[in-house]
Amino acid sequence: MRLNKYSVGTGDRFAHQAKAQLQACLLASQQGVEVTPVWNKSNREHTIIGSEPTSTRQAADAAVKALHWEKPYFCDADHITLQTVDRFLAPCDFYTIDVADAIGQHAPASDIDQFVNRHPELLGKIQLSGIDEAFGITAEHLKNTAEKFLAAVKQAGKVYRKIESAKGAGNFIPEISMDETDRAQSPVELLIILAAIADEGIPIQTIAPKFSGRFNKGVDYVGDVAQFEKEMALDVAAIAYAVRQYGLPDNLKLSVHSGSDKFSIYPAIHATMRRFDAGVHLKTAGTTWLEELIGLAEADGDGLALAKQIYAEAFAHADELCAPYATVIDIDPTKLPSPQEVAVWTSEQYTSALRHVPGSPAYNSSLRQLLHVGFKIAAKMGHRYLDLLEANEAIIAKNVTENLYQRHIAPVFLGQRSI
Ligand SMILES: [Zn+2]
Repeated sequence: MRLNKYSVGTGDRFAHQAKAQLQACLLASQQGVEVTPVWNKSNREHTIIGSEPTSTRQAADAAVKALHWEKPYFCDADHITLQTVDRFLAPCDFYTIDVADAIGQHAPASDIDQFVNRHPELLGKIQLSGIDEAFGITAEHLKNTAEKFLAAVKQAGKVYRKIESAKGAGNFIPEISMDETDRAQSPVELLIILAAIADEGIPIQTIAPKFSGRFNKGVDYVGDVAQFEKEMALDVAAIAYAVRQYGLPDNLKLSVHSGSDKFSIYPAIHATMRRFDAGVHLKTAGTTWLEELIGLAEADGDGLALAKQIYAEAFAHADELCAPYATVIDIDPTKLPSPQEVAVWTSEQYTSALRHVPGSPAYNSSLRQLLHVGFKIAAKMGHRYLDLLEANEAIIAKNVTENLYQRHIAPVFLGQRSI
């Protein structure tokens, strides 16, 4: 199995929007750009909702059948570890192996020495193609980086081999993610990590480093866009070098765990892909669920009433809902409207506060982030929520497709301006 140059990871918390999401890839296809859909759902999400990975697979298969999608598509076991991978083995064919927790754990000194001795080519100046400056790596730098990351890569090897023994080599797409950690990895570190991954025999097709800047869930990037572009260019060049030098799969590309809605860096991502003729896997978060809320609010009546009730409960349980996502959200409590205020909102007031239209004065990023992590409230409502999704399918689908295509796929893969 081989991942296409362009691919988009998309979340579907309640497994009701796969068709509307696939429709966005069909729109790209009609523009002559093949963007492979990958449905991602983490163990954390499944646990909060009480769903099983098989439900994601069933929803994806049904959508593919309904829309006669004949190109590849995948189900991603997102951010899995040795402990959580089991229930993803049967239904998934894409594995995001998360080793962030092992970063900084020390590998045995003999492993470090072995790694350093095996890689004299990493010492000194390394000229990457397409980049003016060169990487300079000292022996100390190499050793320090190995001390920081080698244990994590060895851990990834364990997880990879567990999946490989269950599914067979070549029958799934392996990704390694290091994004859920405190400190960004530099492009030099990425190159050294890739050498270690190749040593470990993991044929990764995507790698997700942590970039500098804030990648909060469902809201825009916070950081220096020019710095991001520079860093991404170096990462892409380092990947190309590692593919040649270490024989990693030639379609290896960056996986940008965007958390959705990183509108301000999308032009930089597009420009970098163009510059290096590189691909990208753009992983978005489960903001499709926010499009469900927008659709329900837009539908007015029962839908709007439910959307308001969900806000009221999310407001009341904000601390508990935010806790698992503390490192990837920034909510200003003083910007959250009271449930009493929201109770008298019109459909238009609700949707324009929630919908992420940059520059719109009504858009409220704190409210958006709170609702983003508030999906547990809807999950608890069970059929009451799902029945309304089904009753309002058309209006919700329109929002889901438009959001994924216009705001994400078109700017990143087609280079169109985001709206
Ligand atoms: Zn991630």
